[in-house]
Amino acid sequence: MLTSNRFSRVLLVAMFAIAALTLPFWAGDQYQLHLAALIAVYWVLISGLNIVVGFTGQLSIGHVGLLSIGSYGFCILVGKFGVDPYVAMAIAGALGGICGLGLGLPSLRLPGFYFAMATMAFALIVNEIILAQVDLTGGGIGLVGPLFPEPFDSPIGFYYLAAIIAAIATWLTWNIARSMWGKGLISIRDNPVTAQAVGVPVFRAKLVAFVFSGVLAGVSGALFASLQSYITPETFVFDLSMFFFVCIIIGGRGSIVGPFLGTVVLTALPEMVASLAKLGNFFYGLLLLIVVLVIPEGIGRMIQMIYERFRPRQIESMPIQPELPRLRHVLNTHTGDHDAIRMEHISKNFGGVAAVDDVSLTLSPHEVHGLIGPNGSGKTTMLNLLSGYYEPTTGSMLYRGEDFGNTTVQQRARMGIARTFQKPRLLPELTVLENAMVGAWSESTSGFMASALALPHVRAEDSVLRARAEELLHGVGLGAVMHRRANLLDHAQQRFLEIARGLALKPRFILLDEPAGGLTSVEIEHLGSVIRAISKSGVGVLLVEHHTDFVFRVCDKVTALNVGRMIQHGTSEQVRHDPEVIRVYLGA
Ligand code: ADP
Ligand code: MG
Repeated sequence: MLTSNRFSRVLLVAMFAIAALTLPFWAGDQYQLHLAALIAVYWVLISGLNIVVGFTGQLSIGHVGLLSIGSYGFCILVGKFGVDPYVAMAIAGALGGICGLGLGLPSLRLPGFYFAMATMAFALIVNEIILAQVDLTGGGIGLVGPLFPEPFDSPIGFYYLAAIIAAIATWLTWNIARSMWGKGLISIRDNPVTAQAVGVPVFRAKLVAFVFSGVLAGVSGALFASLQSYITPETFVFDLSMFFFVCIIIGGRGSIVGPFLGTVVLTALPEMVASLAKLGNFFYGLLLLIVVLVIPEGIGRMIQMIYERFRPRQIESMPIQPELPRLRHVLNTHTGDHDAIRMEHISKNFGGVAAVDDVSLTLSPHEVHGLIGPNGSGKTTMLNLLSGYYEPTTGSMLYRGEDFGNTTVQQRARMGIARTFQKPRLLPELTVLENAMVGAWSESTSGFMASALALPHVRAEDSVLRARAEELLHGVGLGAVMHRRANLLDHAQQRFLEIARGLALKPRFILLDEPAGGLTSVEIEHLGSVIRAISKSGVGVLLVEHHTDFVFRVCDKVTALNVGRMIQHGTSEQVRHDPEVIRVYLGA
């Protein structure tokens, strides 16, 4: 299946390359060639913006500001300072990146709507500044867009230059999309809580993606100025920014082919069909409305759905069937010995409510530690404290003598604390395998640019992480559904996938929040053997669970909570027969 996938991809790229290379020979006239060049120039910007909007889910509607900075930078450098156009284009890219950093640093922490507004304000301010700086920018009169030197000074030559740069931009974004970074960015878009849990540095990753898009916007600006041959502030109207944004939304998020087709259609259609051009923005608005109502996932997803229809039907339901020897084998490759985590006199208050009140608990390697208690007794809060979502109000959490109580969620991931969630938090648009791979984020050392360039060490690391994720999936019993999209999984499969994702972290400790919830008795059996295999390999397990028979069967130690307070702790036998535990919990 993978090879046929790759084959169709190669075929697609080859067909497209041939079409792009031969375009000047079959394009009807100069105007069509100009349009093709314009599409390429726009795509340089949109491909980068796609990483921000389509992958990371950050709604930037101000990229026209970065485009105009690139354009003016290029014109001023070449026209006023006689800088070589290629050097000027590189500087325009750098300018775009720097301005992206300047805009992203304060605004990327803002929630979605406010971030969008900040980018819009940025675009408007840039335009005002350009209008005001008459000496440098020519104010309302504008500047001449310089040509590139031979052989790129003719319309055909320029088209090829733009097409080459567009191809490079596509290649870079394609590499990012399929790298660990791509999955990390999608996790920020679809489930920031999961992103943190696997160690994705959410803000930094957003910023890196945004700066990258700024560089491409700057380069695109240089090409744009040259193609337009004359630029004024009116060239960079806000409508253009919305146009970029709409191309991506219509194309579909998380796709590269989709937004590319969106760019082609939206650029060419109004120009080719005169009646559409007359409609102007009305046409874009109408198209957007149609797409949002009819195919909300965009063109890219629609193509994928058509493609999937022609593929052999996947088997509908697949029972979970752990392959324990494989699981043991892959777990044994994890780093071995480590110490216990000690939580001492931990309390957590929310306003006046003490969710956890003076609880002490030791989580040891090789041990399964159960945490039981009625609803609202503070079990999930304990997990959130351990994995760093909450900071304890009082008390200490020690590992190797150091208090880690105020470290971030990401630092806990790097420490080797993995977790699952009471309600599974998967990335629905990624495959099962990709979901498991995301778990290995903190294992990955590949930088963003190295990933964009698909350097050999990045590819090597990627295949190691992929192979391990595959082994883990076979191990927990999801081998047969590895290439399915995660939103097609049933509830039990989702729970086991969360465990595989946790294990991909190479954890020292794994915290499971009600993993047996909603499972059949056969599936609970499987869960038990998976948990035992995990603890045998040396990983310390914290098991929050309501199925008490199951807890007492699998756990070495058990702690019982009631309204935030610890009522008993000890071996399974001790806790099971404790009168207080029976009274408040078991007996009910
Ligand atoms: P359990 O997992 O044992 O069912 P929880 O740890 O989820 O219990 O909740 C324990 C108590 O803490 C509950 O009373 C709950 O309402 C409260 N609580 C948990 N998280 C928060 C929060 N973020 N803000 C306010 N109260 C919270
Ligand atoms: Mg809970």
